[in-house]
Amino acid sequence: MNGPRDWEAHEPRRAGVIRRVLPTALAFVVILSGLAYLRGDLRELIGTAPGSPHSAAATHRLYETGPVDGRCETLPEEIDADIRATLRTLTGCLDRMWAATLAQADLAYSPPAEVRLVATPEEAACGIEDYDWAGIYCPDGRVVNVLVEDRRAFPMMFTLAHEYAHHVQEISGIAGRRGPEVFDEAWSRRLELQADCMAAATLRIVEPRRLRNLSRLAGQDSGTQSQEPAYRQSHGSGANSARWMRRGQQAGTVEACNTWAAPAEQVS
Ligand SMILES: [Zn+2]
Repeated sequence: MNGPRDWEAHEPRRAGVIRRVLPTALAFVVILSGLAYLRGDLRELIGTAPGSPHSAAATHRLYETGPVDGRCETLPEEIDADIRATLRTLTGCLDRMWAATLAQADLAYSPPAEVRLVATPEEAACGIEDYDWAGIYCPDGRVVNVLVEDRRAFPMMFTLAHEYAHHVQEISGIAGRRGPEVFDEAWSRRLELQADCMAAATLRIVEPRRLRNLSRLAGQDSGTQSQEPAYRQSHGSGANSARWMRRGQQAGTVEACNTWAAPAEQVS
């Protein structure tokens, strides 16, 4: 857990072990030790290992939904004229897109509690100690934060769509950890690359040309962020980011964004 993140980890609360009777506690320890000893093999067998096509994250019913309806007719033609207005309009479109997609899987959609368009990281609901992010999703309060600092709207539109994807991962349960799943950098990369892909799926009709340009830039790996080792560790290589963005743009489905079933080299 060394790399910078644009979402905050939160640990589920457990009931106090102290109150459990001794045999139960011992059995618990033995099972955990066994899992730790067998690690990958057992996790693969019971399907909880990220990258296992049998894992709950890889077989989620959201993958059975059709292409995201990526139209956003209310978006202004000049997206750079009033960037905050553009992002506010896109927010409404993303709510509509994800509500319709989750409904196909009989999942209820609730919008983020708040979408903060901030001028400095200090104004965000979380992630204040991190030095460098364009956007961040705070799962505890379900707040999307986007840093508005550029004169071009599209990179911020992509950031907004990416943080929205984290919100969908959170409320659908895809981002939930299960069993002995290890919360490590590999887990983080699958989460981040999936969010890139899902963001591309939502923006593929809104801004297809700018989206292609952005994925081309990511693929060149020349961005300041993707060159940083810590960023690559938690978010994946520029080449893989571009790969998943292209998949989302071409197919437009969450199924195309199933990083949890992908081989390790595609989420490196
Ligand atoms: Zn992210």
